[in-house]
Amino acid sequence: MIIVPEREIAGLITAADCFTAVEQVFASMARKSAYNFPVIREAIGHADALYGFKSGFDRESLALGLKSGGFWPRNGEQGLTNHQSAIFLFDADSGQCRAVVGGNLLTALRTAAASAISIKHLARPDAKVLGMIGAGHQSTFQLRAALDQRAFDKVVGWNIDPGALIRLEAVAAEKNVPFEAVDLVRLGEEADVIITITSSFAPILRTSQVRPGTHLACMGTDTKGKQEVEAELVAAATVFTDEIAQSVQIGEAQHAVAAGLLAASDIVELGTVINGTHPGRRSDREITLFDGTGVGLQDLAVASVAVDLAMSRGVASEIEF
Ligand code: NAD
Repeated sequence: MIIVPEREIAGLITAADCFTAVEQVFASMARKSAYNFPVIREAIGHADALYGFKSGFDRESLALGLKSGGFWPRNGEQGLTNHQSAIFLFDADSGQCRAVVGGNLLTALRTAAASAISIKHLARPDAKVLGMIGAGHQSTFQLRAALDQRAFDKVVGWNIDPGALIRLEAVAAEKNVPFEAVDLVRLGEEADVIITITSSFAPILRTSQVRPGTHLACMGTDTKGKQEVEAELVAAATVFTDEIAQSVQIGEAQHAVAAGLLAASDIVELGTVINGTHPGRRSDREITLFDGTGVGLQDLAVASVAVDLAMSRGVASEIEF
């Protein structure tokens, strides 16, 4: 069995590798060659932790396995990140456990890849200003991946605690793009693309604050009850997602669906746009919204690449199992 420790991931896999792997698996999902199994997520009644599994199989790449881990809210006290995970890959021909891969950085990279893929396929070609809502751990990965995707002229950012925006300013400076902290009204007036990456349980962005033609990548809502934008805004947009079942149950679309403003049949898998079976954005005035819920197949796709790279560069450990 191959082990790729967390400490090796940063030196092995690039954001570009993750972008390609996630784009391919979204396309495979839309061709019905890859599917996610039902997600398990439980409050374990210890350390206030949430623990679970995301798993699936891609018949095209033969990636089979699961990501296991969750959220330990008091980990900061021990100098650890709150989100902890490991990805287990199995041999699709024999069922043997093939590899265990550190999943913390890969989770951030595959999540950032998903929003960047949505920008590639759905944002207007003339999009120039990027709006960021949220400035937590994931936000810097999101911003880097978006700036790699398009030549944005400017980044505008909002966070409930404005002091944290310094993180985004630093990433923008790395990429030589001007950054400005703004209120939500100005963010909506200026941004052509908006990424939301918060852990909010109530709408932050209102319909009236978003201009026609905007592309929204809503990435923070991955649990029942979380919400980043008004349900009416979701209903006013053409909604794309990684997986429709998750979008309806735990994604940003859950509230619009529950309110009867949107049907599951209105939601489009982003993979169909990648495959060319859906045209994607139809006009410069259409609001497009990507509901990025985060699927296990994304984790398996990037972990498979990490294993291949670790083997080819001799940094994987192999043990008898
Ligand atoms: P974090 O705790 O580091 O940051 C949370 C961010 O949300 C901060 O900017 C914080 O100020 C903001 N926030 C918290 N409460 C808020 C509120 N009530 N109103 C407005 N803003 C608020 O978390 P993170 O690791 O950056 O993750 C952000 C979100 O992304 C989480 O909800 C996480 O579960 C989700 N996530 C999604 C995926 C996916 O695939 N879609 C993957 C990983 C994480």
